[in-house]
Amino acid sequence: MPQRVPKIQHPFVNIDRISGVWPANTTDWQATHEAGHLMGLPDRYNYNNFKPDPNFVNNIMSTYGGSPNEQDIRQIINASGNDVDYGD
Ligand SMILES: [Zn+2]
Repeated sequence: MPQRVPKIQHPFVNIDRISGVWPANTTDWQATHEAGHLMGLPDRYNYNNFKPDPNFVNNIMSTYGGSPNEQDIRQIINASGNDVDYGD
């Protein structure tokens, strides 16, 4: 009898940030991207053509393998409610 191959589901976090799907076989980048959503970061690409927003090329929230930028970090810290002096 042939074994059924489980369908790999794309991970996602719903807008409510308390529900979604996060399969165990999620890649490191996908997990990091979804964690960004859990911390309040939006997708930073065009949903129609998947091109990154101009200020977020190679960003974790727009591009596979991308990294967070300073704006992402500040947004996460600000959302935490902590008062931070960025020194600028
Ligand atoms: Zn996303």
